[in-house]
Amino acid sequence: MTDDVDLFVIGAGSGGVRAGRIAAGYGARVMVAEEHRVGGTCVIRGCVPKKLYVYASRFADEFDEAKGFGWDAGEPRFDFAALKAAKDKEIDRLEGAYRNTLRNAGVTLVESRATVAGPNAVRLADGRIVTAGTILVATGAWPYLPAATPGVHLAETSNDIFEWTALPRRVVIVGGGYIAVEFACALSRMGSEVTVVIRREKVLRGFDEDMRDALMKEMALSGIRILTGTDVVSLDGRPGNINVTLLNGEGVAAERVVYATGRVPNTKGLGLEQAGVGLDAEGAAQVDRFSRTAVPSIYAVGDVTNRVNLTPVAIREGHAFADSVFGGREVAVDHSTIPSAVFSTPEIGTVGVTEDEARALGREIVIFKASFRPMKATLSGSQSRTLMKLVVDKASDRMLGVHILGEGAGEMIQCVGIAVQMGATKRDFDMTMAVHPTAAEELVTLRTPVAG
Ligand code: NDP
Repeated sequence: MTDDVDLFVIGAGSGGVRAGRIAAGYGARVMVAEEHRVGGTCVIRGCVPKKLYVYASRFADEFDEAKGFGWDAGEPRFDFAALKAAKDKEIDRLEGAYRNTLRNAGVTLVESRATVAGPNAVRLADGRIVTAGTILVATGAWPYLPAATPGVHLAETSNDIFEWTALPRRVVIVGGGYIAVEFACALSRMGSEVTVVIRREKVLRGFDEDMRDALMKEMALSGIRILTGTDVVSLDGRPGNINVTLLNGEGVAAERVVYATGRVPNTKGLGLEQAGVGLDAEGAAQVDRFSRTAVPSIYAVGDVTNRVNLTPVAIREGHAFADSVFGGREVAVDHSTIPSAVFSTPEIGTVGVTEDEARALGREIVIFKASFRPMKATLSGSQSRTLMKLVVDKASDRMLGVHILGEGAGEMIQCVGIAVQMGATKRDFDMTMAVHPTAAEELVTLRTPVAG
């Protein structure tokens, strides 16, 4: 008896869509199930709408700084509802493009929740069973809220921000990770009074210490209040008028409270454990380097595996899975040198290891750093500073890590990432001619180490 399909993909996000499309291209009969909207977190409620909001927010600085260059554009006004409507339209368009991609590849889309009913069987919401030679779990992750905090039902997550139709006057953001700092910077520039509550002393745990310090300074400079070493004890009030009580008893009033306290893999009720797939303590599907679970016919890619939770990584994993299982060549994804950006304002671009990580590895390292006011600031009057940091291996001269905070850092790090991936040395950077006048030229003109 043959299976209904060769591949059943659960989840039409970045990883699932790529895997389904590539597998279909190899001739596999593919079905993809999606219970929300096609496109997943990145397209519908993550990277894409977030970046649109970040762009919107940065006009605030541009209008302000333009005066130093002779422009008088009058008093700028910002219409949050207009931004949301434009964003919704663009997300609808993108969702349509994703649907077309699947259709054109010959993939069957079922708009239903799907759960694993066995090593080769999937159950749809209407009870129908579909048999499949291979099952790919690509269900992503979902925002985590600490359920034990009294009044936490009054809090929202980044998902909800994209449904707001008006900008809140006062917002409290709990957490200091990617999502917290990105929205703090964006909402603050749009005009909200933003308070960030973090339980440690710094935002962005895991990033280079200099970047963490510099971003916190920049955030404070732009008017964001960061309350460190504390936590939310309780929330009370009603939607639109919430009182946040902190550890020291201090109260902060806000219209909206957003929790950005991490995300949990979407594996609850999926039938994975019953089928024999191992889950770790956080509920992430455990996989080997070919994204294969303990069940030979079940694979998992993307955030549901909680490896490196970034869209391009999920896409790579989905592609590698399809190549390995349907393309006749085994491909494993290299998770070691992944460039990434935090779209705070100013943004951070980073690739490779931090100074502390390099030292912890027992490497003898040389550090190069530049902190400067970018050229544009000379006329705009902005007090914002750009920071660049290179972590170099003393013995081999290899570039172990590059960290940038400043305008365009995300764009810069994509290109630097190629060099680092290729194993570039500090001498390779030194040999590269500068592009003048740019901020990026500092990357190739740094000559004096600040620490060794
Ligand atoms: P992160 O894991 O980055 O950060 C979570 C934050 O919440 C940390 O500051 C953490 O503090 C804090 N926290 C966790 N639990 C609690 C709690 N119970 N009480 C108080 N604070 C708490 O998660 P995000 O939600 O910001 O983002 C999720 C993932 O999405 C990221 O890891 C990233 O991979 C991805 N992402 C990537 C983006 C990009 O590439 N630009 C943008 C947005 C998301 P502590 O440090 O003390 O643990």
